[in-house]
Amino acid sequence: MPASRTARRVAITTAALVAAVFFSLLVTLPSLPVPIALDGVDADIRARTVSGAYHIHTSRSDGAGDKASVAAAAARAGLRFAIFTDHGDGTRSPDVPAYLSGVLCIDSVEISTTRGHYVALDLPAAPYPLGGESSAVAEDVKRLGGFGIAAHPDHPKSELSWTDWDTPIDGIEWLNTDVEWRNESALRLGRVLFDYFVRPASAVASVFDRPDRTLTRWDALEAARPVVGLAAADAHGGARQKTDEGRRVFGVGPSYDATFSSISNRVLLERPLTGDAVQDVRLVVDAIRGGRVYSVVDPISRDVVMNLDGSGQLTVVSPLPSGARVVHVGNPARSRLEIRATQAPGDPPVPWVVANWAGPRATARPTTATAPIAAGTPLAAAFEWRVEKDPSSSGRVSAGGGVVTLEYKLHEGPRASQFVAAAVDLNPADSFETIAFRGRADRPMRLSFQVRVLPDDSRWVRSVYLEPTEREVFIKVKDLQPAVSGSAGSASFRQARSVLFVVDLANARPGDAGTFTIHSLRGIR
Ligand SMILES: [Zn+2]
Ligand SMILES: [Zn+2]
Repeated sequence: MPASRTARRVAITTAALVAAVFFSLLVTLPSLPVPIALDGVDADIRARTVSGAYHIHTSRSDGAGDKASVAAAAARAGLRFAIFTDHGDGTRSPDVPAYLSGVLCIDSVEISTTRGHYVALDLPAAPYPLGGESSAVAEDVKRLGGFGIAAHPDHPKSELSWTDWDTPIDGIEWLNTDVEWRNESALRLGRVLFDYFVRPASAVASVFDRPDRTLTRWDALEAARPVVGLAAADAHGGARQKTDEGRRVFGVGPSYDATFSSISNRVLLERPLTGDAVQDVRLVVDAIRGGRVYSVVDPISRDVVMNLDGSGQLTVVSPLPSGARVVHVGNPARSRLEIRATQAPGDPPVPWVVANWAGPRATARPTTATAPIAAGTPLAAAFEWRVEKDPSSSGRVSAGGGVVTLEYKLHEGPRASQFVAAAVDLNPADSFETIAFRGRADRPMRLSFQVRVLPDDSRWVRSVYLEPTEREVFIKVKDLQPAVSGSAGSASFRQARSVLFVVDLANARPGDAGTFTIHSLRGIR
Protein backbone atom coordinates (compact mmCIF):
# COMPACT_ATOMS: atom_id res chain seq x y z
CA MET A 1 0.00 0.00 0.00
CA PRO A 2 2.06 2.95 -1.24
CA ALA A 3 -0.24 5.60 0.29
CA SER A 4 0.11 4.32 3.87
CA ARG A 5 3.85 3.78 3.36
CA THR A 6 4.14 7.42 2.31
CA ALA A 7 2.12 8.52 5.35
CA ARG A 8 4.38 6.52 7.62
CA ARG A 9 7.46 8.00 6.00
CA VAL A 10 6.06 11.53 6.50
CA ALA A 11 5.28 10.73 10.16
CA ILE A 12 8.78 9.39 10.79
CA THR A 13 10.41 12.37 9.06
CA THR A 14 8.26 14.79 11.07
CA ALA A 15 9.08 13.03 14.34
CA ALA A 16 12.76 13.08 13.47
CA LEU A 17 12.58 16.80 12.65
CA VAL A 18 10.75 17.61 15.88
CA ALA A 19 13.29 15.59 17.84
CA ALA A 20 16.15 17.35 16.05
CA VAL A 21 14.70 20.78 16.73
CA PHE A 22 14.01 19.90 20.35
CA PHE A 23 17.54 18.52 20.77
CA SER A 24 19.13 21.53 19.13
CA LEU A 25 17.03 23.82 21.37
CA LEU A 26 18.24 21.88 24.40
CA VAL A 27 21.93 21.99 23.45
CA THR A 28 21.70 25.71 22.66
CA LEU A 29 20.04 26.64 25.98
CA PRO A 30 21.48 29.75 27.58
CA SER A 31 24.44 28.70 29.70
CA LEU A 32 24.34 28.34 33.47
CA PRO A 33 26.12 30.82 35.77
CA VAL A 34 29.90 30.35 35.84
CA PRO A 35 31.01 29.50 39.39
CA ILE A 36 33.96 31.55 40.67
CA ALA A 37 35.67 30.72 43.98
CA LEU A 38 35.38 33.68 46.34
CA ASP A 39 37.35 32.09 49.22
CA GLY A 40 40.17 34.59 48.82
CA VAL A 41 37.92 37.63 49.22
CA ASP A 42 38.03 39.51 52.53
CA ALA A 43 35.25 38.15 54.78
CA ASP A 44 34.38 41.66 56.02
CA ILE A 45 33.70 42.92 52.49
CA ARG A 46 31.55 39.89 51.78
CA ALA A 47 29.62 40.40 55.01
CA ARG A 48 28.96 44.02 54.05
CA THR A 49 27.81 43.15 50.53
CA VAL A 50 24.15 42.27 50.12
CA SER A 51 22.14 41.55 47.03
CA GLY A 52 18.64 42.78 46.36
CA ALA A 53 15.91 43.57 43.89
CA TYR A 54 14.70 47.07 43.13
CA HIS A 55 11.39 48.04 41.41
CA ILE A 56 8.78 45.46 42.38
CA HIS A 57 5.01 45.56 42.02
CA THR A 58 2.70 43.62 44.32
CA SER A 59 -1.04 43.09 44.30
CA ARG A 60 -1.26 46.48 46.02
CA SER A 61 -0.93 47.90 42.49
CA ASP A 62 -0.58 45.84 39.30
CA GLY A 63 1.55 42.91 40.51
CA ALA A 64 0.37 39.34 40.94
CA GLY A 65 1.65 38.46 44.42
CA ASP A 66 1.33 39.93 47.89
CA LYS A 67 4.35 41.20 49.76
CA ALA A 68 4.91 37.97 51.73
CA SER A 69 4.92 35.78 48.61
CA VAL A 70 7.20 38.23 46.78
CA ALA A 71 9.61 38.23 49.74
CA ALA A 72 9.60 34.42 49.68
CA ALA A 73 10.49 34.51 45.96
CA ALA A 74 13.31 36.98 46.69
CA ALA A 75 14.61 34.63 49.40
CA ARG A 76 14.60 31.70 46.93
CA ALA A 77 16.65 33.87 44.54
CA GLY A 78 19.21 34.41 47.30
CA LEU A 79 18.36 38.10 47.80
CA ARG A 80 18.59 39.92 51.13
CA PHE A 81 16.51 43.01 50.36
CA ALA A 82 13.57 43.90 48.13
CA ILE A 83 12.48 47.43 47.23
CA PHE A 84 8.75 47.59 46.55
CA THR A 85 7.55 50.30 44.17
CA ASP A 86 3.79 49.99 43.86
CA HIS A 87 2.14 52.78 41.88
CA GLY A 88 0.83 55.62 44.01
CA ASP A 89 0.78 59.35 44.66
CA GLY A 90 3.07 59.33 47.71
CA THR A 91 0.33 60.15 50.25
CA ARG A 92 0.25 56.63 51.74
CA SER A 93 2.60 56.25 54.71
CA PRO A 94 5.31 53.79 53.67
CA ASP A 95 5.02 50.37 55.31
CA VAL A 96 7.21 49.94 58.38
CA PRO A 97 10.39 48.11 57.30
CA ALA A 98 10.24 44.39 58.08
CA TYR A 99 12.06 41.15 57.41
CA LEU A 100 9.84 38.61 55.64
CA SER A 101 11.33 35.20 54.77
CA GLY A 102 14.67 36.72 55.82
CA VAL A 103 14.36 39.43 53.17
CA LEU A 104 14.46 43.09 54.20
CA CYS A 105 11.31 44.64 52.70
CA ILE A 106 11.69 48.32 51.80
CA ASP A 107 8.58 50.22 50.76
CA SER A 108 8.66 53.02 48.20
CA VAL A 109 6.41 54.33 45.47
CA GLU A 110 6.30 54.77 41.68
CA ILE A 111 4.66 58.08 40.76
CA SER A 112 3.16 58.95 37.37
CA THR A 113 4.11 62.35 35.96
CA THR A 114 3.48 64.18 32.71
CA ARG A 115 6.85 62.97 31.45
CA GLY A 116 7.08 59.44 32.72
CA HIS A 117 7.29 57.38 35.88
CA TYR A 118 9.43 58.45 38.82
CA VAL A 119 10.31 56.14 41.69
CA ALA A 120 10.62 57.85 45.07
CA LEU A 121 12.77 55.93 47.52
CA ASP A 122 13.09 56.99 51.17
CA LEU A 123 10.01 59.20 50.92
CA PRO A 124 7.80 59.93 53.95
CA ALA A 125 4.06 60.35 53.35
CA ALA A 126 3.52 63.40 51.15
CA PRO A 127 1.14 66.11 52.45
CA TYR A 128 -0.76 66.18 49.14
CA PRO A 129 -0.94 63.85 46.11
CA LEU A 130 2.27 63.94 44.07
CA GLY A 131 1.71 63.98 40.34
CA GLY A 132 1.47 66.22 37.33
CA GLU A 133 4.50 68.01 35.96
CA SER A 134 7.66 65.89 36.12
CA SER A 135 9.79 68.75 37.43
CA ALA A 136 7.24 69.47 40.17
CA VAL A 137 7.18 65.83 41.27
CA ALA A 138 10.98 65.65 41.33
CA GLU A 139 11.11 68.91 43.30
CA ASP A 140 8.55 67.58 45.81
CA VAL A 141 10.40 64.28 46.25
CA LYS A 142 13.60 66.18 46.94
CA ARG A 143 11.96 68.63 49.34
CA LEU A 144 10.41 65.76 51.30
CA GLY A 145 13.83 64.13 51.64
CA GLY A 146 13.26 61.32 49.14
CA PHE A 147 15.55 59.93 46.47
CA GLY A 148 14.06 60.08 42.98
CA ILE A 149 14.81 57.59 40.22
CA ALA A 150 13.86 58.03 36.56
CA ALA A 151 11.99 54.83 35.67
CA HIS A 152 12.39 52.86 32.43
CA PRO A 153 13.69 55.61 30.13
CA ASP A 154 13.67 53.04 27.31
CA HIS A 155 10.03 52.05 27.70
CA PRO A 156 8.30 51.95 24.30
CA LYS A 157 5.15 53.50 25.81
CA SER A 158 5.94 57.21 25.78
CA GLU A 159 3.55 58.00 28.65
CA LEU A 160 5.51 55.66 30.94
CA SER A 161 9.12 56.36 29.97
CA TRP A 162 10.89 59.16 31.83
CA THR A 163 11.86 61.86 29.32
CA ASP A 164 12.59 64.94 31.42
CA TRP A 165 16.38 65.28 31.34
CA ASP A 166 16.43 68.95 32.40
CA THR A 167 15.14 68.20 35.89
CA PRO A 168 17.83 67.16 38.38
CA ILE A 169 17.13 63.52 39.21
CA ASP A 170 18.95 61.39 41.77
CA GLY A 171 18.94 58.08 39.98
CA ILE A 172 18.21 56.34 36.70
CA GLU A 173 17.25 52.79 35.76
CA TRP A 174 20.12 51.81 33.48
CA LEU A 175 18.28 48.61 32.65
CA ASN A 176 14.67 47.51 33.16
CA THR A 177 13.83 43.85 32.66
CA ASP A 178 10.21 44.63 31.81
CA VAL A 179 11.41 46.73 28.87
CA GLU A 180 14.13 44.45 27.53
CA TRP A 181 11.85 41.78 26.03
CA ARG A 182 9.81 44.37 24.16
CA ASN A 183 12.42 44.92 21.45
CA GLU A 184 12.81 41.23 20.58
CA SER A 185 11.33 39.59 17.48
CA ALA A 186 8.40 37.15 17.77
CA LEU A 187 10.68 34.30 16.66
CA ARG A 188 13.23 35.23 19.31
CA LEU A 189 10.50 35.40 21.97
CA GLY A 190 9.30 31.93 20.95
CA ARG A 191 12.80 30.66 21.61
CA VAL A 192 12.93 32.51 24.93
CA LEU A 193 9.61 30.92 25.92
CA PHE A 194 11.10 27.44 25.38
CA ASP A 195 14.20 28.37 27.40
CA TYR A 196 11.99 29.87 30.10
CA PHE A 197 10.49 26.49 30.95
CA VAL A 198 13.94 24.93 31.31
CA ARG A 199 16.12 27.76 32.66
CA PRO A 200 13.82 30.65 33.62
CA ALA A 201 16.37 33.19 34.92
CA SER A 202 18.78 32.60 32.03
CA ALA A 203 15.88 32.97 29.61
CA VAL A 204 14.93 36.34 31.13
CA ALA A 205 18.54 37.51 30.93
CA SER A 206 18.89 36.22 27.36
CA VAL A 207 16.82 39.17 26.09
CA PHE A 208 19.03 41.78 27.76
CA ASP A 209 20.99 44.04 25.43
CA ARG A 210 23.39 46.78 26.45
CA PRO A 211 21.06 49.82 26.59
CA ASP A 212 23.56 52.13 24.89
CA ARG A 213 21.25 55.11 24.66
CA THR A 214 20.36 55.11 28.37
CA LEU A 215 23.95 54.48 29.46
CA THR A 216 25.10 57.42 27.34
CA ARG A 217 22.34 59.53 28.86
CA TRP A 218 23.39 58.52 32.36
CA ASP A 219 27.02 59.41 31.69
CA ALA A 220 26.00 62.78 30.27
CA LEU A 221 23.89 63.56 33.36
CA GLU A 222 26.85 62.72 35.58
CA ALA A 223 28.81 65.57 34.02
CA ALA A 224 26.68 67.85 36.20
CA ARG A 225 26.15 65.82 39.37
CA PRO A 226 26.17 62.25 40.68
CA VAL A 227 23.30 60.11 39.41
CA VAL A 228 22.91 56.56 40.71
CA GLY A 229 22.22 53.81 38.17
CA LEU A 230 20.15 50.80 39.23
CA ALA A 231 18.93 47.68 37.46
CA ALA A 232 15.16 47.55 37.72
CA ALA A 233 13.41 44.21 38.04
CA ASP A 234 10.06 45.92 37.34
CA ALA A 235 8.71 42.58 38.51
CA HIS A 236 4.96 42.01 38.24
CA GLY A 237 5.00 38.27 38.90
CA GLY A 238 3.78 36.28 35.90
CA ALA A 239 0.21 36.33 34.74
CA ARG A 240 -2.22 38.67 36.42
CA GLN A 241 -5.34 40.73 35.89
CA LYS A 242 -4.56 44.42 35.95
CA THR A 243 -6.29 47.71 35.41
CA ASP A 244 -5.03 49.77 32.49
CA GLU A 245 -6.66 53.20 32.18
CA GLY A 246 -9.75 51.91 33.95
CA ARG A 247 -10.04 48.74 31.85
CA ARG A 248 -9.38 45.25 33.21
CA VAL A 249 -6.71 43.66 31.07
CA PHE A 250 -4.62 40.52 31.29
CA GLY A 251 -0.90 41.00 31.82
CA VAL A 252 1.76 38.35 31.40
CA GLY A 253 5.46 38.33 32.18
CA PRO A 254 8.15 36.32 33.93
CA SER A 255 7.61 35.08 37.49
CA TYR A 256 9.06 36.94 40.47
CA ASP A 257 11.51 34.06 40.92
CA ALA A 258 12.82 34.24 37.34
CA THR A 259 13.09 38.05 37.35
CA PHE A 260 14.87 38.16 40.70
CA SER A 261 17.44 35.60 39.50
CA SER A 262 18.09 37.39 36.20
CA ILE A 263 19.70 40.58 37.55
CA SER A 264 20.33 42.02 41.00
CA ASN A 265 21.79 45.07 42.69
CA ARG A 266 24.59 44.59 45.22
CA VAL A 267 25.09 47.26 47.84
CA LEU A 268 28.28 47.73 49.82
CA LEU A 269 27.11 48.63 53.34
CA GLU A 270 28.92 50.66 56.00
CA ARG A 271 28.55 47.64 58.27
CA PRO A 272 26.82 44.25 58.04
CA LEU A 273 23.05 44.03 58.40
CA THR A 274 21.99 43.92 62.03
CA GLY A 275 18.67 42.08 61.79
CA ASP A 276 16.83 45.21 62.93
CA ALA A 277 14.76 46.17 59.88
CA VAL A 278 14.61 49.91 60.62
CA GLN A 279 18.38 50.21 61.04
CA ASP A 280 19.07 47.95 58.08
CA VAL A 281 16.88 49.94 55.69
CA ARG A 282 19.04 52.96 56.58
CA LEU A 283 22.20 50.98 55.73
CA VAL A 284 20.84 49.81 52.36
CA VAL A 285 19.33 53.15 51.36
CA ASP A 286 22.44 55.08 52.38
CA ALA A 287 24.57 52.75 50.24
CA ILE A 288 22.30 53.40 47.25
CA ARG A 289 22.30 57.15 47.87
CA GLY A 290 26.09 57.05 48.05
CA GLY A 291 26.49 55.13 44.79
CA ARG A 292 27.95 52.13 46.62
CA VAL A 293 25.90 49.83 44.41
CA TYR A 294 26.53 47.66 41.35
CA SER A 295 24.27 45.54 39.20
CA VAL A 296 25.08 41.95 38.30
CA VAL A 297 23.54 39.83 35.52
CA ASP A 298 23.49 36.73 37.70
CA PRO A 299 22.94 34.08 35.00
CA ILE A 300 26.40 34.99 33.61
CA SER A 301 27.95 34.50 37.05
CA ARG A 302 26.69 35.33 40.51
CA ASP A 303 30.19 35.45 41.94
CA VAL A 304 31.66 38.93 41.94
CA VAL A 305 32.66 41.15 44.86
CA MET A 306 33.59 44.82 44.72
CA ASN A 307 35.16 47.11 47.29
CA LEU A 308 36.08 50.77 47.47
CA ASP A 309 39.63 51.45 46.36
CA GLY A 310 41.97 54.11 47.76
CA SER A 311 40.17 56.85 45.83
CA GLY A 312 36.75 55.73 47.06
CA GLN A 313 35.71 54.03 43.81
CA LEU A 314 34.13 50.62 43.40
CA THR A 315 36.67 48.15 42.08
CA VAL A 316 36.47 44.40 41.64
CA VAL A 317 38.27 42.32 44.28
CA SER A 318 37.25 38.80 43.22
CA PRO A 319 38.71 36.63 40.44
CA LEU A 320 37.06 37.16 37.04
CA PRO A 321 35.66 34.46 34.76
CA SER A 322 37.99 33.73 31.85
CA GLY A 323 37.67 36.28 29.06
CA ALA A 324 36.01 38.92 31.29
CA ARG A 325 37.30 42.48 30.90
CA VAL A 326 37.06 45.43 33.26
CA VAL A 327 36.32 48.63 31.35
CA HIS A 328 36.26 52.15 32.73
CA VAL A 329 33.51 54.08 31.01
CA GLY A 330 31.37 57.09 31.53
CA ASN A 331 31.96 60.70 32.16
CA PRO A 332 35.58 61.59 33.00
CA ALA A 333 34.37 63.53 36.05
CA ARG A 334 32.64 60.47 37.46
CA SER A 335 33.81 57.43 35.62
CA ARG A 336 32.26 54.08 36.41
CA LEU A 337 33.20 50.52 35.72
CA GLU A 338 31.65 47.81 33.58
CA ILE A 339 32.75 44.21 33.46
CA ARG A 340 32.14 42.64 30.07
CA ALA A 341 31.97 38.85 29.86
CA THR A 342 32.30 36.67 26.78
CA GLN A 343 29.12 34.73 27.69
CA ALA A 344 26.98 37.90 27.83
CA PRO A 345 23.76 37.79 25.84
CA GLY A 346 22.50 40.65 23.71
CA ASP A 347 23.31 42.83 20.76
CA PRO A 348 25.26 44.77 21.81
CA PRO A 349 26.11 42.41 24.70
CA VAL A 350 24.80 43.49 28.09
CA PRO A 351 27.61 44.19 30.59
CA TRP A 352 27.85 41.44 33.22
CA VAL A 353 28.47 44.04 35.94
CA VAL A 354 27.67 47.77 35.95
CA ALA A 355 29.10 49.70 38.89
CA ASN A 356 28.39 53.22 40.06
CA TRP A 357 30.70 56.12 40.70
CA ALA A 358 30.92 56.07 44.49
CA GLY A 359 32.65 59.37 45.17
CA PRO A 360 31.61 61.97 47.73
CA ARG A 361 28.20 63.58 47.47
CA ALA A 362 27.12 67.05 48.50
CA THR A 363 24.97 66.53 51.56
CA ALA A 364 23.78 70.09 52.15
CA ARG A 365 20.07 70.65 51.61
CA PRO A 366 19.30 73.38 49.08
CA THR A 367 18.46 76.64 50.80
CA THR A 368 15.12 78.26 50.13
CA ALA A 369 15.78 81.73 51.48
CA THR A 370 13.34 84.25 50.12
CA ALA A 371 15.06 87.01 48.20
CA PRO A 372 13.94 90.63 48.53
CA ILE A 373 11.10 91.46 46.19
CA ALA A 374 12.56 91.89 42.74
CA ALA A 375 11.57 94.72 40.46
CA GLY A 376 8.72 94.43 38.01
CA THR A 377 5.49 96.03 36.91
CA PRO A 378 2.39 95.25 38.96
CA LEU A 379 -0.02 93.17 36.92
CA ALA A 380 -3.76 93.26 37.21
CA ALA A 381 -3.75 96.27 39.51
CA ALA A 382 -6.84 97.75 37.88
CA PHE A 383 -9.05 94.68 37.96
CA GLU A 384 -11.25 92.75 40.39
CA TRP A 385 -10.29 89.25 41.41
CA ARG A 386 -12.96 86.60 40.93
CA VAL A 387 -13.53 82.90 41.59
CA GLU A 388 -13.67 80.39 38.75
CA LYS A 389 -14.70 76.85 39.66
CA ASP A 390 -16.61 73.76 38.70
CA PRO A 391 -20.34 73.91 39.59
CA SER A 392 -20.14 71.80 42.75
CA SER A 393 -16.96 73.09 44.44
CA SER A 394 -16.92 76.34 46.38
CA GLY A 395 -14.57 79.27 46.71
CA ARG A 396 -14.42 82.76 48.17
CA VAL A 397 -11.90 85.36 47.15
CA SER A 398 -10.96 88.47 49.12
CA ALA A 399 -8.62 91.05 47.67
CA GLY A 400 -7.25 94.40 48.68
CA GLY A 401 -4.00 96.32 48.52
CA GLY A 402 -2.46 93.87 46.07
CA VAL A 403 -3.12 90.91 48.36
CA VAL A 404 -5.57 88.21 47.32
CA THR A 405 -6.72 85.28 49.46
CA LEU A 406 -8.71 82.30 48.18
CA GLU A 407 -10.68 80.00 50.44
CA TYR A 408 -11.51 76.84 48.52
CA LYS A 409 -13.31 73.58 49.00
CA LEU A 410 -13.25 70.95 46.29
CA HIS A 411 -16.49 69.02 46.01
CA GLU A 412 -16.43 65.79 47.97
CA GLY A 413 -17.24 62.57 46.13
CA PRO A 414 -16.12 61.00 42.91
CA ARG A 415 -13.40 62.66 40.85
CA ALA A 416 -15.08 64.92 38.31
CA SER A 417 -12.43 67.50 37.40
CA GLN A 418 -13.13 69.54 40.53
CA PHE A 419 -11.28 72.85 40.64
CA VAL A 420 -11.40 76.25 42.31
CA ALA A 421 -9.35 79.21 41.07
CA ALA A 422 -8.63 82.82 41.91
CA ALA A 423 -8.59 84.64 38.58
CA VAL A 424 -7.93 88.17 37.42
CA ASP A 425 -7.76 89.96 34.08
CA LEU A 426 -4.53 91.66 33.08
CA ASN A 427 -3.78 95.14 31.84
CA PRO A 428 -3.97 94.74 28.06
CA ALA A 429 -0.73 96.57 27.32
CA ASP A 430 1.53 94.54 29.61
CA SER A 431 4.20 92.30 28.18
CA PHE A 432 6.68 90.29 30.23
CA GLU A 433 9.11 87.40 30.08
CA THR A 434 8.79 86.41 33.72
CA ILE A 435 5.86 86.51 36.11
CA ALA A 436 6.69 86.89 39.80
CA PHE A 437 4.58 86.78 42.93
CA ARG A 438 4.78 85.96 46.60
CA GLY A 439 2.55 83.33 48.07
CA ARG A 440 1.79 81.23 51.10
CA ALA A 441 -0.81 78.63 52.02
CA ASP A 442 -2.28 77.31 55.26
CA ARG A 443 -0.54 73.96 54.56
CA PRO A 444 1.94 72.61 52.00
CA MET A 445 0.14 72.47 48.66
CA ARG A 446 0.55 72.71 44.93
CA LEU A 447 -1.50 74.91 42.71
CA SER A 448 -1.53 75.31 38.97
CA PHE A 449 -0.54 78.79 37.85
CA GLN A 450 -2.23 79.45 34.51
CA VAL A 451 -2.14 82.18 31.90
CA ARG A 452 -5.13 82.48 29.60
CA VAL A 453 -4.06 84.00 26.32
CA LEU A 454 -5.62 85.75 23.34
CA PRO A 455 -6.94 85.14 20.79
CA ASP A 456 -8.19 81.63 21.51
CA ASP A 457 -8.33 81.59 25.35
CA SER A 458 -5.90 78.66 25.44
CA ARG A 459 -4.21 78.19 28.82
CA TRP A 460 -0.54 77.78 29.64
CA VAL A 461 0.35 76.31 32.98
CA ARG A 462 3.09 75.75 35.52
CA SER A 463 2.83 73.94 38.85
CA VAL A 464 3.69 76.04 41.92
CA TYR A 465 4.48 74.90 45.46
CA LEU A 466 3.20 76.95 48.42
CA GLU A 467 3.58 76.42 52.17
CA PRO A 468 2.88 78.40 55.36
CA THR A 469 6.23 80.21 55.03
CA GLU A 470 5.96 82.83 52.33
CA ARG A 471 7.87 82.09 49.12
CA GLU A 472 8.79 84.20 46.15
CA VAL A 473 7.90 82.46 42.90
CA PHE A 474 9.30 83.29 39.47
CA ILE A 475 7.79 81.73 36.38
CA LYS A 476 9.43 82.19 33.01
CA VAL A 477 6.90 82.44 30.20
CA LYS A 478 9.01 80.02 28.14
CA ASP A 479 8.62 77.38 30.86
CA LEU A 480 4.82 77.41 30.70
CA GLN A 481 3.30 74.23 29.30
CA PRO A 482 0.08 73.92 27.31
CA ALA A 483 -2.83 72.97 29.59
CA VAL A 484 -4.09 70.59 26.93
CA SER A 485 -1.25 68.12 26.54
CA GLY A 486 -0.26 67.59 22.97
CA SER A 487 -0.73 71.24 21.98
CA ALA A 488 2.30 72.18 19.98
CA GLY A 489 4.73 74.99 20.55
CA SER A 490 5.98 77.00 23.46
CA ALA A 491 4.21 79.80 25.24
CA SER A 492 4.96 82.61 22.81
CA PHE A 493 1.62 84.38 23.03
CA ARG A 494 1.07 87.89 21.87
CA GLN A 495 -1.13 88.85 24.77
CA ALA A 496 -2.13 87.35 28.10
CA ARG A 497 -5.77 87.98 28.94
CA SER A 498 -5.90 86.74 32.52
CA VAL A 499 -4.04 84.72 35.12
CA LEU A 500 -5.46 82.01 37.37
CA PHE A 501 -4.24 80.31 40.53
CA VAL A 502 -5.97 76.95 40.36
CA VAL A 503 -6.45 74.20 42.94
CA ASP A 504 -7.33 71.03 41.05
CA LEU A 505 -7.10 67.25 41.29
CA ALA A 506 -3.51 67.09 39.99
CA ASN A 507 -2.30 67.68 43.55
CA ALA A 508 -5.43 67.71 45.69
CA ARG A 509 -8.20 65.29 46.49
CA PRO A 510 -11.98 65.66 46.32
CA GLY A 511 -13.12 67.25 49.59
CA ASP A 512 -9.83 69.08 50.20
CA ALA A 513 -10.30 72.57 51.62
CA GLY A 514 -7.88 75.32 52.54
CA THR A 515 -6.64 78.84 51.96
CA PHE A 516 -3.81 80.46 50.05
CA THR A 517 -2.66 84.04 49.67
CA ILE A 518 -0.88 85.70 46.76
CA HIS A 519 0.56 89.19 46.60
CA SER A 520 2.94 91.38 44.63
CA LEU A 521 1.95 89.82 41.32
CA ARG A 522 4.31 91.39 38.78
CA GLY A 523 5.57 91.06 35.27
CA ILE A 524 9.30 91.33 34.64
CA ARG A 525 10.64 92.04 31.19
ZN1 LIG B 1 6.56 52.27 35.52
ZN1 LIG C 1 6.90 49.79 37.68
